[in-house]
Amino acid sequence: MTEDTSRMPYQLPFPKDAQEEIVIPNAMNCDDRLWVPQAENVWFRPLCLNRSQGYWMNLLKVRKAGVLSRHRHPQPVHGFVLKGRWHYLEHDWVAEEGGYVYEPPGETHTLVVPDDVEEMVTYFQVNGVMCYVDPWGKVTGYEDVFTKIDLCRRHFENVGLGGDYVNQFIR
Ligand code: FE
Repeated sequence: MTEDTSRMPYQLPFPKDAQEEIVIPNAMNCDDRLWVPQAENVWFRPLCLNRSQGYWMNLLKVRKAGVLSRHRHPQPVHGFVLKGRWHYLEHDWVAEEGGYVYEPPGETHTLVVPDDVEEMVTYFQVNGVMCYVDPWGKVTGYEDVFTKIDLCRRHFENVGLGGDYVNQFIR
């Protein structure tokens, strides 16, 4: 009789150079100190800051209506709306709670939160860099995984968690 292995865990060691997994239960309803301020009434909650591949996964929380930012993406972005609603001035669709958005490389857009939305939370995977631009594409600033890590480190230091608190999110 052959042994039933359907419920048997993988029996071999993982590659010795493999990184550790990240597990964050209840990522959305966490300690307020984990929301890193990014502008007035705008925060991000880091989930995975992947410096080895140059991307970051985070929850973006906005508690203000109006324009959030105008930016260009040289690399793709994936978004999943967890709460509220938002849209881009450049497109006629609306990203709504429960919806998924793919932003292809080459997108430049201006994110707007409508007046009747008290709070929006969106899970974003941003690859490479976000270039902040004026309406004619002139770059006014940028963010990448390293500026994100720096912001987190400084914030966690300020709120008493210690700068190294960010390390658990870095891969
Ligand atoms: Fe974007």
